[in-house]
Amino acid sequence: MTIHLHDTRQGRKVAFEPMQEGKVTMYLCGPTVYNYAHIGNARPAVVFDLLARVLRRRFDLTFARNFTDVDDKINAASVETGKPIDEITAQYMTAYNDDMGALGVLPPDIEPRATQHIDDMVAMIGALVESGNAYEADGHVLFDVTSFDDYGSLSKRDLREMIAGARVEVAPYKKSPQDFVMWKPSTPELPGWDSPWGRGRPGWHIECSAMAARHLGDTIDIHAGGQDLIFPHHENELAQSRCAHDGADFARYWVHNGFLSMDQEKMSKSLGNVVLVHDLIKSVPGEVIRLALLGAHYRQPLDWSEETIKAAKRMLDRLYGAVRGVDVPAAMRAAAEPPEALVAALEDDINTPKAMAEFFALAKTANKASDADEKQRLAAIMLASGDLMGLLQTDPEEWFAGHVEGELSADDIEALIEKRNAARAAKDFATGDAIRDQLAAAGITIEDGASGTSWRRSE
Ligand code: AMP
Ligand code: ZN
Repeated sequence: MTIHLHDTRQGRKVAFEPMQEGKVTMYLCGPTVYNYAHIGNARPAVVFDLLARVLRRRFDLTFARNFTDVDDKINAASVETGKPIDEITAQYMTAYNDDMGALGVLPPDIEPRATQHIDDMVAMIGALVESGNAYEADGHVLFDVTSFDDYGSLSKRDLREMIAGARVEVAPYKKSPQDFVMWKPSTPELPGWDSPWGRGRPGWHIECSAMAARHLGDTIDIHAGGQDLIFPHHENELAQSRCAHDGADFARYWVHNGFLSMDQEKMSKSLGNVVLVHDLIKSVPGEVIRLALLGAHYRQPLDWSEETIKAAKRMLDRLYGAVRGVDVPAAMRAAAEPPEALVAALEDDINTPKAMAEFFALAKTANKASDADEKQRLAAIMLASGDLMGLLQTDPEEWFAGHVEGELSADDIEALIEKRNAARAAKDFATGDAIRDQLAAAGITIEDGASGTSWRRSE
């Protein structure tokens, strides 16, 4: 089996082959650090953390996720709060890593910061001016989109149509409306660095091009980010990088996650429906948020609601219930591997819904096992699956200790269901019904289906 990924540029799912055998490089556009990350921002962090974990099983992966720590939004936050820029960026970089850590996101191998790569950016911009792909105008340096024939190839846009359709309020110093800023002048109060074009600061797109080249080379294997970044951010990164590197391909595979909405609405500050990870983790376990984010396939839209969280909590209760009370020896746990079908689902364009179905099938088998050795063996496989997906990282007893007092645990529920099924099989319907009533009184609804009995907590 080969890993398959949906490549935005080719517009289809393709077999993934790294440029260099055994080694993979991946770059994910990270946050602009001027406030806390909301759960939408957490989606790419969690999804591509999972991809990194999947890739590491087979390859020597170098994964970079940057911090954009120079940006007009940061400058505005500094003016608004009266806090120095460095203090703001330091605060939110730490918060980002803490919050993502709570969601089981492992630290990437490299976390480059834009402000520590200004020399690389200046050098790249200089090379683009030199090669005729960029020009200086009014203290700015702009990329000339007409100098790059493939401009628009990633986002499937036609440059001529874009130019024709441009609105009139285009900056007067631009040759074409789509030309984008790589360097802009700074006033004395704003952050700035000396350059051949005067004291200034970089545009956003050049930051990623320069950091990716510095840490991962001219051509990287995988470039990831949210779908909103395809145009213009990634299109512009691609144009700059290829032109600065003699046409060498910039990223061999482009993967983009779909958007998260909130109760069917766009998440936005003006609608007041922004949920910050920083706040949510105070009342909801990080693993619940992680599983909720992985519940839908990463390219599909994901609607977030109270129910998304509750459903993820129920799912984790089931998984924890299946490993609870089983003492797995350390050596057995270390040697265990997730089931092939679960790995295959993840390797098939990160098919998390399928992978979770496999995980539940495993939990079901584990719950049914009566032999102690078999229970141990299956629990070890469950834990190995959890390690791969970033789930089941808490001690089961502690997990259930976090439960509301008096609530039946998943284990108790499964045991009662088994008892009911045994009673029914023995035609003792009175006992069967009594157990159903007992569960209903505890807020558990059960449903008998072709593949057995399922349950859920009724709200
Ligand atoms: P930003 O700080 O806005 O640049 O966003 C950081 C990352 O979060 C980018 O990869 C965005 O594509 C992604 N992102 C922002 N909002 C959402 C959302 N509502 N759903 C999914 N991803 C998002
Ligand atoms: Zn980027």
